[in-house]
Amino acid sequence: MSNATSYQLFINGRWRGGSGATLPVINPATEMVFASVASATIPDLDEALASAERSRKAWSSRAAKERGEILTAAASILAEKVGAVAMDLSAEQGKTIAEARGEYARAVETLEWNGRHAYELSAPIPMGPNRMIVPEPLGVVAAFTPWNYPAVLIARKLAPALAAGCPVILKGAEETPSAAVHIVESLRQAGIPDGVVNLVFGVPVRISRHLLSSPIVKVLTFTGSTPVGKQLATLAANNLQRCILELGGHSPVIVCEDADLTKTIPAISEYKFECAGQSCNAPSRILVARSRYEEFLSRMTETARKIKIGLPDDPATDMGPMANARRIESMQRLTKDAVERGARIETGGTRLDRPGFYWPPTILTDVPKEARVLHEEPFGPILTVAPFDTLEEAIQEANATEYGLAAYFFTNTADVKRKLTNSLSAGAVSVNYLKGVSADAPYGGVKQSGYGYEGGEQGVRSFQILKMVNGLGSFG
Ligand code: NAD
Repeated sequence: MSNATSYQLFINGRWRGGSGATLPVINPATEMVFASVASATIPDLDEALASAERSRKAWSSRAAKERGEILTAAASILAEKVGAVAMDLSAEQGKTIAEARGEYARAVETLEWNGRHAYELSAPIPMGPNRMIVPEPLGVVAAFTPWNYPAVLIARKLAPALAAGCPVILKGAEETPSAAVHIVESLRQAGIPDGVVNLVFGVPVRISRHLLSSPIVKVLTFTGSTPVGKQLATLAANNLQRCILELGGHSPVIVCEDADLTKTIPAISEYKFECAGQSCNAPSRILVARSRYEEFLSRMTETARKIKIGLPDDPATDMGPMANARRIESMQRLTKDAVERGARIETGGTRLDRPGFYWPPTILTDVPKEARVLHEEPFGPILTVAPFDTLEEAIQEANATEYGLAAYFFTNTADVKRKLTNSLSAGAVSVNYLKGVSADAPYGGVKQSGYGYEGGEQGVRSFQILKMVNGLGSFG
């Protein structure tokens, strides 16, 4: 590992090692260590806090148009590097090169969108002749991002916070550090002032506990699991830091009697198995009208079996490995539990016998309601498929988890569209369509999937105080 890449911290405008021991970065396709990442200690974190606080006044009072220009410049710089940085992302995360390039394209779009809208979203909002709302930056942000989509999820936190005028201390995912490093470096090259963006890695629990205990931090934004989100929200309560929590999901797809399966099945397959199913809004529970159940199941199973699994940098690969050993353990645990309770494996169901964290597309049927896979977020390439007899039954099943991030359905009947749109408990509902988040629209969960919004105007507002100013036109 002597010539291996060593990813560093970025504090007060300078790249440097951390005071703690470095952490290994593992290639999930080979299980070999191929890089390392610096680890921050408490003094490093204190330096990041102090530098963010020092930069706050100048950054918040800088013209919003100029803040936006730095973001759009960073977007162009990042866009130039996508070919190279996508390879780093693929090597550390396990997603295919095409997926990594697609993710970076969305990160670029997110930086660009927020850059373009920084000015208008920082402008006063008139409320008639005498009143207006004056948006002001809330202050220093502590942002925690995960390893599944490390590029776009970082962009979705950094870009709106910076557009709003807030400095950020970002904790990137230690398992996938390159995306954080490349995005922060693009911002540095675009002229972000010292201290406005700080990047740390290290022991997650130690970092979050320290940053959130500081009164300097005014906003917590986190993407990850529900249990960790709750721990962080508890820490944030002490200082009443505003929380934006994008947590897990267990998304249903309702396939109605009139669904066009030639479009439905490829759409489900493509979105489900992207990033080896490790996406918070990937579909995981499919409910099919009984009259179409057998046909759907045999065609879906055939499609899943055809997915080519292989090395992420092989252009012929459709699906790479899972990101880490923990995911394989979860796939094994959930499958075993379902089978022991009487479920059938239609395809997949066991780890592939080769190096790397490879788990094949897996379809489970006859899954009893109490099986863990129907309640715990699978976060991997496992789908359950079940028939339904009435729309009411489908709605009840679709809503029968603690999660409420995304829900999907396929039908061409207007009444059914209306009924399902109104009845599904999810932050996002999509009809005849499976896609993830976009730069211009708000996205957030309900129930145990979190609260607050990322994306679009609401994503920037998440980092603002909306100061209400009354009586402007009155006598002096
Ligand atoms: P995890 O809950 O331990 O970690 C999830 C992420 O949170 C990681 O990036 C981790 O570094 C970070 N984290 C963990 N503890 C933290 C702490 N105390 N302070 C700050 N950050 C902390 O789980 P995991 O094994 O890495 O991931 C598996 C589960 O996480 C999945 O089952 C899924 O539910 C969830 N997850 C969700 C998303 C999402 O997009 N919503 C992304 C990644 C993981």
